[in-house]
Amino acid sequence: MHDTSPLKFDPFEPSAQIESLLTAVASRPAACEGMRAMMQREPEFRSPLEAKLTGIALDPPGRYFADQVLDAYWSDEPRKQDALSSSSTDREVIIGSGFHAAVYAATRVLCGYQKPLVLERNERAGGTFAMTARPTFYLNSRNRAGSGGLAGDQRASLNYLPGAPIQAANVSMLEYQTNTDVAFTIRLALAQFADVVTNAKVLSVSRDGTGAEIEIEDRDPLLAGRVIDARGLGDPYNQDVANGTTVLTFPQFMQRMASMWPLRGVRRVGVVGGGDSAKCAVESFLGIAPQPFMAAAALDSVDRIDWYSDELPTTCDRWQQEIRGRYQAIGRYLRPDRLGMRRLNVLGRRARPVALPGMGLIDGRTYDLVVLCTGSRDTAIEGLDLASFDEYTIPNANVVAREHYNLPAFRVGPHARLPFTRQEREDGVADISANAVSMFRTAYKTAALAATLRAVTRE
Ligand SMILES: Cc1cc2nc3c(=O)[nH]c(=O)nc-3n(C[C@H](O)[C@H](O)[C@H](O)COP(=O)(O)OP(=O)(O)OC[C@H]3O[C@@H](n4cnc5c(N)ncnc54)[C@H](O)[C@@H]3O)c2cc1C
Repeated sequence: MHDTSPLKFDPFEPSAQIESLLTAVASRPAACEGMRAMMQREPEFRSPLEAKLTGIALDPPGRYFADQVLDAYWSDEPRKQDALSSSSTDREVIIGSGFHAAVYAATRVLCGYQKPLVLERNERAGGTFAMTARPTFYLNSRNRAGSGGLAGDQRASLNYLPGAPIQAANVSMLEYQTNTDVAFTIRLALAQFADVVTNAKVLSVSRDGTGAEIEIEDRDPLLAGRVIDARGLGDPYNQDVANGTTVLTFPQFMQRMASMWPLRGVRRVGVVGGGDSAKCAVESFLGIAPQPFMAAAALDSVDRIDWYSDELPTTCDRWQQEIRGRYQAIGRYLRPDRLGMRRLNVLGRRARPVALPGMGLIDGRTYDLVVLCTGSRDTAIEGLDLASFDEYTIPNANVVAREHYNLPAFRVGPHARLPFTRQEREDGVADISANAVSMFRTAYKTAALAATLRAVTRE
Protein backbone atom coordinates (compact mmCIF):
# COMPACT_ATOMS: atom_id res chain seq x y z
CA MET A 1 0.00 0.00 0.00
CA HIS A 2 1.24 3.45 -0.84
CA ASP A 3 1.93 6.03 1.90
CA THR A 4 -1.09 8.37 1.91
CA SER A 5 -0.27 10.50 4.96
CA PRO A 6 -0.81 14.18 4.10
CA LEU A 7 2.30 16.20 3.31
CA LYS A 8 3.04 19.43 5.12
CA PHE A 9 2.66 22.54 2.97
CA ASP A 10 3.28 26.08 4.11
CA PRO A 11 0.80 28.28 2.18
CA PHE A 12 3.10 31.28 2.45
CA GLU A 13 6.14 29.50 0.98
CA PRO A 14 6.42 30.03 -2.78
CA SER A 15 6.44 26.97 -5.03
CA ALA A 16 9.50 26.47 -7.25
CA GLN A 17 7.62 28.06 -10.16
CA ILE A 18 6.55 31.11 -8.13
CA GLU A 19 10.08 31.39 -6.72
CA SER A 20 11.50 31.52 -10.25
CA LEU A 21 8.85 34.08 -11.21
CA LEU A 22 9.85 36.33 -8.29
CA THR A 23 13.51 36.00 -9.22
CA ALA A 24 12.80 36.84 -12.87
CA VAL A 25 10.77 39.93 -11.93
CA ALA A 26 13.38 41.09 -9.38
CA SER A 27 16.13 40.90 -12.00
CA ARG A 28 14.23 43.05 -14.53
CA PRO A 29 14.41 46.76 -13.50
CA ALA A 30 11.45 47.73 -15.71
CA ALA A 31 9.24 45.07 -14.11
CA CYS A 32 10.14 45.13 -10.43
CA GLU A 33 9.05 48.61 -9.32
CA GLY A 34 5.62 47.56 -8.05
CA MET A 35 6.99 44.56 -6.18
CA ARG A 36 9.69 46.63 -4.47
CA ALA A 37 7.30 49.47 -3.62
CA MET A 38 4.73 47.16 -2.07
CA MET A 39 7.30 45.80 0.41
CA GLN A 40 6.93 49.13 2.28
CA ARG A 41 3.41 47.90 3.16
CA GLU A 42 4.43 44.33 3.93
CA PRO A 43 2.97 44.38 7.49
CA GLU A 44 -0.50 44.88 5.97
CA PHE A 45 -0.29 41.49 4.23
CA ARG A 46 -0.46 37.95 5.57
CA SER A 47 2.97 37.17 4.14
CA PRO A 48 5.86 38.67 2.14
CA LEU A 49 4.74 36.45 -0.74
CA GLU A 50 1.30 38.07 -0.84
CA ALA A 51 2.88 41.56 -0.71
CA LYS A 52 5.28 40.77 -3.56
CA LEU A 53 2.63 39.24 -5.83
CA THR A 54 0.22 42.11 -5.14
CA GLY A 55 2.96 44.59 -6.08
CA ILE A 56 3.57 42.74 -9.34
CA ALA A 57 -0.16 42.57 -10.11
CA LEU A 58 -0.72 46.31 -9.53
CA ASP A 59 2.19 47.48 -11.68
CA PRO A 60 1.28 47.05 -15.42
CA PRO A 61 4.85 46.37 -16.66
CA GLY A 62 5.36 43.96 -13.75
CA ARG A 63 2.16 42.09 -14.47
CA TYR A 64 2.83 41.97 -18.20
CA PHE A 65 6.29 40.53 -17.64
CA ALA A 66 5.07 38.06 -15.00
CA ASP A 67 2.38 36.81 -17.41
CA GLN A 68 5.05 36.20 -20.02
CA VAL A 69 7.24 34.34 -17.54
CA LEU A 70 4.31 32.09 -16.59
CA ASP A 71 3.53 31.35 -20.25
CA ALA A 72 7.18 30.58 -21.03
CA TYR A 73 7.38 28.19 -18.08
CA TRP A 74 4.19 26.36 -19.06
CA SER A 75 5.16 26.08 -22.71
CA ASP A 76 8.57 24.51 -22.04
CA GLU A 77 8.43 21.07 -23.71
CA PRO A 78 11.02 19.19 -21.56
CA ARG A 79 9.20 20.39 -18.43
CA LYS A 80 5.88 19.23 -19.87
CA GLN A 81 7.38 15.81 -20.61
CA ASP A 82 8.66 15.58 -17.02
CA ALA A 83 5.26 16.49 -15.63
CA LEU A 84 3.50 13.93 -17.84
CA SER A 85 5.98 11.13 -17.18
CA SER A 86 5.87 11.66 -13.42
CA SER A 87 2.14 10.98 -13.47
CA SER A 88 1.04 7.65 -12.08
CA THR A 89 -1.95 5.80 -10.75
CA ASP A 90 -1.78 7.63 -7.43
CA ARG A 91 -1.92 11.08 -8.99
CA GLU A 92 -4.93 13.31 -9.50
CA VAL A 93 -5.37 14.81 -12.95
CA ILE A 94 -7.55 17.86 -13.59
CA ILE A 95 -8.97 18.47 -17.07
CA GLY A 96 -9.03 22.22 -17.75
CA SER A 97 -7.01 25.05 -16.19
CA GLY A 98 -9.73 27.54 -15.24
CA PHE A 99 -11.04 28.88 -11.95
CA HIS A 100 -12.24 25.49 -10.70
CA ALA A 101 -8.99 23.72 -11.50
CA ALA A 102 -7.24 26.37 -9.39
CA VAL A 103 -9.75 26.05 -6.52
CA TYR A 104 -9.44 22.28 -6.46
CA ALA A 105 -5.63 22.28 -6.66
CA ALA A 106 -5.22 24.96 -3.98
CA THR A 107 -7.55 23.27 -1.51
CA ARG A 108 -6.08 19.87 -2.14
CA VAL A 109 -2.48 20.98 -1.60
CA LEU A 110 -3.38 23.06 1.45
CA CYS A 111 -5.06 19.95 2.89
CA GLY A 112 -1.72 18.18 2.55
CA TYR A 113 -2.14 16.20 -0.65
CA GLN A 114 0.12 16.00 -3.69
CA LYS A 115 -0.09 18.71 -6.37
CA PRO A 116 -2.56 17.69 -9.08
CA LEU A 117 -1.53 17.60 -12.71
CA VAL A 118 -3.58 20.01 -14.86
CA LEU A 119 -4.15 19.30 -18.57
CA GLU A 120 -5.18 22.31 -20.65
CA ARG A 121 -6.00 22.07 -24.35
CA ASN A 122 -5.15 25.72 -25.06
CA GLU A 123 -1.75 27.36 -25.36
CA ARG A 124 -2.61 29.75 -22.52
CA ALA A 125 -3.50 28.48 -19.03
CA GLY A 126 -6.25 30.14 -16.98
CA GLY A 127 -9.60 29.16 -18.53
CA THR A 128 -12.41 31.47 -19.67
CA PHE A 129 -11.03 34.63 -18.07
CA ALA A 130 -7.65 34.01 -19.71
CA MET A 131 -9.15 33.73 -23.22
CA THR A 132 -7.25 36.93 -24.00
CA ALA A 133 -3.93 38.17 -22.62
CA ARG A 134 -5.13 41.80 -22.79
CA PRO A 135 -8.32 42.84 -20.94
CA THR A 136 -11.38 42.60 -23.20
CA PHE A 137 -14.46 42.30 -21.00
CA TYR A 138 -15.67 43.32 -17.56
CA LEU A 139 -16.99 40.80 -15.05
CA ASN A 140 -20.51 41.08 -13.68
CA SER A 141 -19.68 40.11 -10.10
CA ARG A 142 -18.52 43.08 -8.00
CA ASN A 143 -14.94 43.40 -6.81
CA ARG A 144 -15.06 43.55 -3.02
CA ALA A 145 -12.49 42.92 -0.34
CA GLY A 146 -13.10 40.21 2.23
CA SER A 147 -13.23 36.46 2.13
CA GLY A 148 -15.66 34.42 0.07
CA GLY A 149 -19.42 34.60 0.52
CA LEU A 150 -22.78 35.18 -1.08
CA ALA A 151 -23.87 37.97 -3.43
CA GLY A 152 -26.07 39.78 -0.87
CA ASP A 153 -23.30 39.91 1.75
CA GLN A 154 -21.60 43.31 1.32
CA ARG A 155 -18.46 42.18 3.14
CA ALA A 156 -17.95 39.10 1.00
CA SER A 157 -15.66 38.95 -1.99
CA LEU A 158 -17.52 37.47 -4.96
CA ASN A 159 -14.45 36.69 -7.03
CA TYR A 160 -12.70 34.89 -4.18
CA LEU A 161 -10.47 31.94 -5.03
CA PRO A 162 -10.15 29.87 -1.83
CA GLY A 163 -6.49 29.30 -0.95
CA ALA A 164 -5.03 31.48 -3.72
CA PRO A 165 -1.73 33.30 -3.01
CA ILE A 166 -3.47 36.58 -3.87
CA GLN A 167 -7.13 37.36 -4.40
CA ALA A 168 -8.81 39.26 -7.24
CA ALA A 169 -9.41 42.08 -4.74
CA ASN A 170 -5.59 42.49 -4.53
CA VAL A 171 -5.30 43.02 -8.25
CA SER A 172 -7.41 46.08 -9.09
CA MET A 173 -9.69 48.72 -7.59
CA LEU A 174 -12.38 48.56 -10.31
CA GLU A 175 -15.91 47.82 -9.14
CA TYR A 176 -16.21 45.39 -12.03
CA GLN A 177 -12.86 43.86 -12.83
CA THR A 178 -11.52 42.86 -16.19
CA ASN A 179 -11.22 39.25 -17.30
CA THR A 180 -7.42 39.43 -17.08
CA ASP A 181 -7.52 40.67 -13.47
CA VAL A 182 -9.18 37.45 -12.39
CA ALA A 183 -7.14 35.37 -14.85
CA PHE A 184 -3.96 36.59 -13.15
CA THR A 185 -5.09 35.29 -9.75
CA ILE A 186 -6.09 31.95 -11.28
CA ARG A 187 -2.76 31.62 -13.06
CA LEU A 188 -0.77 32.43 -9.92
CA ALA A 189 -2.79 29.86 -7.96
CA LEU A 190 -2.01 27.23 -10.61
CA ALA A 191 1.67 28.18 -10.50
CA GLN A 192 1.63 27.73 -6.72
CA PHE A 193 -0.46 24.58 -6.39
CA ALA A 194 -0.40 22.56 -9.63
CA ASP A 195 1.75 21.17 -12.42
CA VAL A 196 0.25 22.47 -15.64
CA VAL A 197 0.66 21.03 -19.13
CA THR A 198 -0.74 23.24 -21.90
CA ASN A 199 -1.62 22.17 -25.45
CA ALA A 200 -2.88 18.90 -23.94
CA LYS A 201 -6.36 18.18 -25.23
CA VAL A 202 -8.03 15.26 -23.49
CA LEU A 203 -9.87 13.03 -25.97
CA SER A 204 -11.10 10.17 -23.82
CA VAL A 205 -10.99 8.69 -20.33
CA SER A 206 -11.40 4.96 -19.64
CA ARG A 207 -10.95 2.60 -16.72
CA ASP A 208 -7.54 1.12 -15.89
CA GLY A 209 -7.71 -1.13 -12.83
CA THR A 210 -8.86 1.08 -9.99
CA GLY A 211 -7.68 4.19 -11.82
CA ALA A 212 -8.18 5.82 -15.20
CA GLU A 213 -6.35 6.02 -18.50
CA ILE A 214 -6.43 9.41 -20.17
CA GLU A 215 -6.00 9.75 -23.92
CA ILE A 216 -4.40 13.07 -24.94
CA GLU A 217 -4.19 14.37 -28.49
CA ASP A 218 -0.72 13.75 -30.02
CA ARG A 219 0.72 12.46 -26.73
CA ASP A 220 1.13 9.13 -24.98
CA PRO A 221 -1.77 8.01 -22.78
CA LEU A 222 -1.57 8.93 -19.12
CA LEU A 223 -2.57 7.00 -16.01
CA ALA A 224 -4.29 8.71 -13.09
CA GLY A 225 -5.77 7.69 -9.79
CA ARG A 226 -8.58 10.23 -10.04
CA VAL A 227 -9.83 12.62 -12.71
CA ILE A 228 -11.34 16.00 -11.89
CA ASP A 229 -13.30 17.12 -14.91
CA ALA A 230 -13.22 20.94 -14.89
CA ARG A 231 -13.94 21.50 -18.57
CA GLY A 232 -15.94 24.66 -17.89
CA LEU A 233 -18.78 26.02 -19.97
CA GLY A 234 -17.45 24.47 -23.16
CA ASP A 235 -17.39 25.62 -26.76
CA PRO A 236 -19.82 28.04 -28.43
CA TYR A 237 -22.94 26.70 -30.10
CA ASN A 238 -23.22 27.52 -33.81
CA GLN A 239 -19.47 27.36 -34.34
CA ASP A 240 -20.26 26.01 -37.82
CA VAL A 241 -22.02 29.30 -38.69
CA ALA A 242 -18.93 31.40 -37.90
CA ASN A 243 -16.26 31.89 -40.55
CA GLY A 244 -13.67 33.52 -38.27
CA THR A 245 -13.63 36.81 -40.18
CA THR A 246 -17.05 38.43 -40.67
CA VAL A 247 -19.10 36.10 -38.46
CA LEU A 248 -17.38 35.38 -35.14
CA THR A 249 -18.11 33.39 -32.01
CA PHE A 250 -17.77 35.26 -28.71
CA PRO A 251 -14.24 33.92 -27.97
CA GLN A 252 -13.15 34.73 -31.55
CA PHE A 253 -14.53 38.25 -31.15
CA MET A 254 -12.69 38.72 -27.84
CA GLN A 255 -9.47 37.54 -29.53
CA ARG A 256 -10.07 40.20 -32.15
CA MET A 257 -10.70 42.87 -29.49
CA ALA A 258 -7.32 41.96 -27.95
CA SER A 259 -5.51 42.50 -31.25
CA MET A 260 -4.39 45.73 -32.92
CA TRP A 261 -7.12 48.03 -34.40
CA PRO A 262 -9.88 45.53 -33.69
CA LEU A 263 -12.67 47.72 -35.12
CA ARG A 264 -10.84 49.01 -38.17
CA GLY A 265 -13.35 49.36 -41.02
CA VAL A 266 -16.24 48.14 -38.86
CA ARG A 267 -19.30 50.44 -39.08
CA ARG A 268 -22.40 48.23 -39.04
CA VAL A 269 -22.51 45.21 -36.77
CA GLY A 270 -24.95 42.54 -35.65
CA VAL A 271 -24.93 40.78 -32.28
CA VAL A 272 -26.96 37.59 -31.89
CA GLY A 273 -28.05 36.40 -28.41
CA GLY A 274 -29.14 38.12 -25.22
CA GLY A 275 -26.99 36.76 -22.37
CA ASP A 276 -24.00 38.24 -20.56
CA SER A 277 -21.57 37.43 -23.38
CA ALA A 278 -23.76 39.34 -25.85
CA LYS A 279 -23.90 42.30 -23.45
CA CYS A 280 -20.08 42.26 -23.23
CA ALA A 281 -19.85 42.20 -27.04
CA VAL A 282 -22.24 45.16 -27.32
CA GLU A 283 -20.17 47.06 -24.71
CA SER A 284 -17.10 46.52 -26.91
CA PHE A 285 -18.88 48.05 -29.91
CA LEU A 286 -20.19 50.97 -27.84
CA GLY A 287 -16.74 51.76 -26.43
CA ILE A 288 -17.69 51.01 -22.82
CA ALA A 289 -15.65 47.82 -22.47
CA PRO A 290 -11.96 47.79 -21.42
CA GLN A 291 -9.84 49.97 -23.73
CA PRO A 292 -8.85 47.92 -26.79
CA PHE A 293 -5.25 47.86 -27.97
CA MET A 294 -4.30 50.79 -30.27
CA ALA A 295 -7.93 51.84 -30.79
CA ALA A 296 -9.38 55.37 -30.73
CA ALA A 297 -12.84 56.83 -31.35
CA ALA A 298 -11.42 59.09 -34.08
CA LEU A 299 -10.22 56.08 -36.01
CA ASP A 300 -12.77 53.34 -35.56
CA SER A 301 -16.28 54.08 -34.29
CA VAL A 302 -19.16 51.70 -34.87
CA ASP A 303 -22.22 53.58 -36.26
CA ARG A 304 -24.94 51.01 -35.91
CA ILE A 305 -25.40 47.93 -33.75
CA ASP A 306 -28.35 45.62 -34.46
CA TRP A 307 -28.92 43.29 -31.56
CA TYR A 308 -30.94 40.15 -32.31
CA SER A 309 -32.51 38.79 -29.14
CA ASP A 310 -36.06 37.96 -28.13
CA GLU A 311 -35.26 38.14 -24.41
CA LEU A 312 -34.15 41.78 -24.01
CA PRO A 313 -36.06 45.07 -23.58
CA THR A 314 -36.15 47.14 -26.75
CA THR A 315 -36.51 50.60 -25.13
CA CYS A 316 -34.34 52.61 -22.74
CA ASP A 317 -37.11 52.88 -20.13
CA ARG A 318 -37.75 49.17 -20.02
CA TRP A 319 -34.01 48.49 -19.99
CA GLN A 320 -33.64 50.63 -16.87
CA GLN A 321 -36.44 48.74 -15.13
CA GLU A 322 -35.59 45.20 -16.13
CA ILE A 323 -31.82 44.89 -16.49
CA ARG A 324 -29.47 44.53 -13.54
CA GLY A 325 -27.14 47.32 -12.48
CA ARG A 326 -23.95 46.01 -14.07
CA TYR A 327 -25.35 46.44 -17.59
CA GLN A 328 -27.34 49.67 -17.08
CA ALA A 329 -24.94 51.79 -19.15
CA ILE A 330 -25.98 49.97 -22.33
CA GLY A 331 -29.58 51.18 -21.94
CA ARG A 332 -28.92 54.83 -22.74
CA TYR A 333 -27.82 53.91 -26.28
CA LEU A 334 -31.35 52.64 -26.94
CA ARG A 335 -32.51 56.31 -26.94
CA PRO A 336 -32.37 58.29 -30.19
CA ASP A 337 -30.06 61.31 -30.20
CA ARG A 338 -31.31 64.86 -31.05
CA LEU A 339 -31.25 64.02 -34.73
CA GLY A 340 -33.34 60.95 -34.13
CA MET A 341 -30.47 58.50 -34.77
CA ARG A 342 -29.99 55.45 -32.59
CA ARG A 343 -26.70 53.60 -32.50
CA LEU A 344 -28.14 50.57 -30.77
CA ASN A 345 -31.31 48.74 -31.84
CA VAL A 346 -32.69 45.65 -30.17
CA LEU A 347 -34.59 43.71 -32.82
CA GLY A 348 -36.75 41.44 -30.69
CA ARG A 349 -36.21 38.24 -32.59
CA ARG A 350 -33.69 35.45 -33.01
CA ALA A 351 -31.54 35.26 -36.11
CA ARG A 352 -29.16 32.96 -37.89
CA PRO A 353 -26.50 34.80 -39.89
CA VAL A 354 -24.92 33.71 -43.12
CA ALA A 355 -21.21 34.39 -43.68
CA LEU A 356 -20.77 35.91 -47.13
CA PRO A 357 -17.36 36.88 -48.55
CA GLY A 358 -16.44 40.16 -46.82
CA MET A 359 -19.70 40.54 -44.88
CA GLY A 360 -22.27 38.90 -42.64
CA LEU A 361 -25.91 38.66 -43.67
CA ILE A 362 -28.96 38.55 -41.39
CA ASP A 363 -32.50 38.63 -42.79
CA GLY A 364 -31.42 40.60 -45.86
CA ARG A 365 -29.29 43.15 -43.92
CA THR A 366 -25.54 43.15 -44.41
CA TYR A 367 -22.99 43.76 -41.68
CA ASP A 368 -19.25 44.36 -41.51
CA LEU A 369 -19.15 42.03 -38.53
CA VAL A 370 -21.58 39.69 -36.74
CA VAL A 371 -20.92 38.23 -33.29
CA LEU A 372 -22.67 35.03 -32.24
CA CYS A 373 -23.37 34.84 -28.50
CA THR A 374 -25.80 31.95 -28.44
CA GLY A 375 -24.45 29.96 -25.50
CA SER A 376 -22.11 27.03 -25.21
CA ARG A 377 -22.08 23.27 -24.93
CA ASP A 378 -19.73 20.70 -23.39
CA THR A 379 -16.52 19.99 -25.22
CA ALA A 380 -16.48 16.30 -26.17
CA ILE A 381 -14.50 13.79 -24.09
CA GLU A 382 -15.33 10.14 -24.70
CA GLY A 383 -16.24 8.34 -21.48
CA LEU A 384 -17.12 11.53 -19.58
CA ASP A 385 -20.56 12.45 -20.94
CA LEU A 386 -23.00 14.04 -18.50
CA ALA A 387 -25.29 10.98 -18.43
CA SER A 388 -22.46 8.93 -16.86
CA PHE A 389 -22.44 11.12 -13.74
CA ASP A 390 -24.72 11.35 -10.73
CA GLU A 391 -24.97 14.09 -8.10
CA TYR A 392 -22.34 13.78 -5.37
CA THR A 393 -23.10 14.88 -1.83
CA ILE A 394 -20.60 15.34 0.96
CA PRO A 395 -21.66 14.10 4.41
CA ASN A 396 -24.29 16.33 6.07
CA ALA A 397 -24.09 18.88 3.31
CA ASN A 398 -25.28 19.73 -0.17
CA VAL A 399 -24.46 18.38 -3.57
CA VAL A 400 -21.00 19.71 -4.44
CA ALA A 401 -20.11 17.92 -7.67
CA ARG A 402 -21.05 15.02 -9.91
CA GLU A 403 -19.47 11.58 -9.57
CA HIS A 404 -18.96 9.15 -12.45
CA TYR A 405 -20.77 5.80 -12.16
CA ASN A 406 -17.79 3.66 -13.27
CA LEU A 407 -14.67 5.79 -13.22
CA PRO A 408 -12.85 7.60 -10.39
CA ALA A 409 -13.95 10.91 -11.91
CA PHE A 410 -15.81 14.01 -10.70
CA ARG A 411 -17.31 16.94 -12.60
CA VAL A 412 -16.89 20.31 -10.90
CA GLY A 413 -17.89 23.92 -11.49
CA PRO A 414 -20.63 25.10 -13.87
CA HIS A 415 -19.88 22.09 -16.01
CA ALA A 416 -21.30 19.88 -13.21
CA ARG A 417 -24.67 21.60 -13.80
CA LEU A 418 -25.70 21.49 -10.17
CA PRO A 419 -29.25 22.61 -9.50
CA PHE A 420 -29.85 25.54 -7.12
CA THR A 421 -30.23 24.28 -3.56
CA ARG A 422 -33.18 25.21 -1.35
CA GLN A 423 -30.90 27.50 0.64
CA GLU A 424 -29.73 29.24 -2.56
CA ARG A 425 -33.37 29.83 -3.50
CA GLU A 426 -34.16 31.21 -0.05
CA ASP A 427 -31.08 33.47 -0.19
CA GLY A 428 -32.21 34.90 -3.54
CA VAL A 429 -29.13 33.52 -5.32
CA ALA A 430 -31.40 31.67 -7.77
CA ASP A 431 -33.25 34.89 -8.75
CA ILE A 432 -30.50 35.71 -11.26
CA SER A 433 -30.13 32.78 -13.64
CA ALA A 434 -26.50 33.74 -14.46
CA ASN A 435 -25.66 32.92 -10.83
CA ALA A 436 -25.85 29.24 -11.82
CA VAL A 437 -22.27 29.60 -13.10
CA SER A 438 -21.04 32.32 -10.72
CA MET A 439 -17.77 31.77 -8.96
CA PHE A 440 -19.18 32.77 -5.57
CA ARG A 441 -21.78 29.99 -5.88
CA THR A 442 -19.56 27.21 -7.18
CA ALA A 443 -16.13 27.89 -5.62
CA TYR A 444 -16.97 26.50 -2.19
CA LYS A 445 -18.62 23.41 -3.64
CA THR A 446 -15.39 22.54 -5.46
CA ALA A 447 -13.31 23.42 -2.39
CA ALA A 448 -15.53 21.20 -0.22
CA LEU A 449 -15.02 18.31 -2.62
CA ALA A 450 -11.25 18.80 -2.58
CA ALA A 451 -11.17 18.99 1.21
CA THR A 452 -13.20 15.83 1.77
CA LEU A 453 -12.12 13.32 -0.88
CA ARG A 454 -9.80 10.71 0.55
CA ALA A 455 -6.26 10.28 -0.74
CA VAL A 456 -5.81 8.45 -4.01
CA THR A 457 -4.27 5.09 -3.21
CA ARG A 458 -2.41 2.61 -5.38
CA GLU A 459 -3.81 -0.88 -4.90
C1 LIG B 1 -18.21 36.44 -20.77
C2 LIG B 1 -18.29 35.75 -19.43
C3 LIG B 1 -18.33 36.53 -18.28
C4 LIG B 1 -18.41 35.93 -17.05
N1 LIG B 1 -18.43 36.72 -15.94
C5 LIG B 1 -18.50 36.16 -14.73
C6 LIG B 1 -18.49 36.96 -13.56
O1 LIG B 1 -18.46 38.18 -13.63
N2 LIG B 1 -18.53 36.35 -12.36
C7 LIG B 1 -18.60 35.00 -12.24
O2 LIG B 1 -18.64 34.51 -11.12
N3 LIG B 1 -18.60 34.19 -13.32
C8 LIG B 1 -18.56 34.74 -14.56
N4 LIG B 1 -18.56 33.95 -15.67
C9 LIG B 1 -18.62 32.50 -15.50
C10 LIG B 1 -17.23 31.97 -15.22
O3 LIG B 1 -16.36 32.40 -16.24
C11 LIG B 1 -17.22 30.48 -15.22
O4 LIG B 1 -18.19 29.98 -14.36
C12 LIG B 1 -15.87 29.97 -14.76
O5 LIG B 1 -14.84 30.50 -15.57
C13 LIG B 1 -15.83 28.50 -14.84
O6 LIG B 1 -14.57 28.08 -14.48
P1 LIG B 1 -14.10 26.63 -14.88
O7 LIG B 1 -12.76 26.42 -14.29
O8 LIG B 1 -15.15 25.66 -14.54
O9 LIG B 1 -14.03 26.66 -16.48
P2 LIG B 1 -13.22 27.55 -17.48
O10 LIG B 1 -12.70 28.79 -16.90
O11 LIG B 1 -14.07 27.67 -18.70
O12 LIG B 1 -11.98 26.61 -17.86
C14 LIG B 1 -12.16 25.36 -18.49
C15 LIG B 1 -10.91 25.02 -19.24
O13 LIG B 1 -11.02 23.68 -19.69
C16 LIG B 1 -10.35 23.58 -20.93
N5 LIG B 1 -10.80 22.37 -21.64
C17 LIG B 1 -12.04 22.13 -22.16
N6 LIG B 1 -12.05 20.92 -22.76
C18 LIG B 1 -10.82 20.39 -22.58
C19 LIG B 1 -10.22 19.16 -22.97
N7 LIG B 1 -10.90 18.23 -23.65
N8 LIG B 1 -8.93 18.94 -22.64
C20 LIG B 1 -8.21 19.86 -21.94
N9 LIG B 1 -8.74 21.04 -21.55
C21 LIG B 1 -10.01 21.31 -21.87
C22 LIG B 1 -10.74 24.88 -21.63
O14 LIG B 1 -9.86 25.17 -22.69
C23 LIG B 1 -10.68 25.87 -20.49
O15 LIG B 1 -9.44 26.51 -20.42
C24 LIG B 1 -18.47 34.52 -16.94
C25 LIG B 1 -18.40 33.73 -18.10
C26 LIG B 1 -18.31 34.34 -19.34
C27 LIG B 1 -18.23 33.46 -20.57
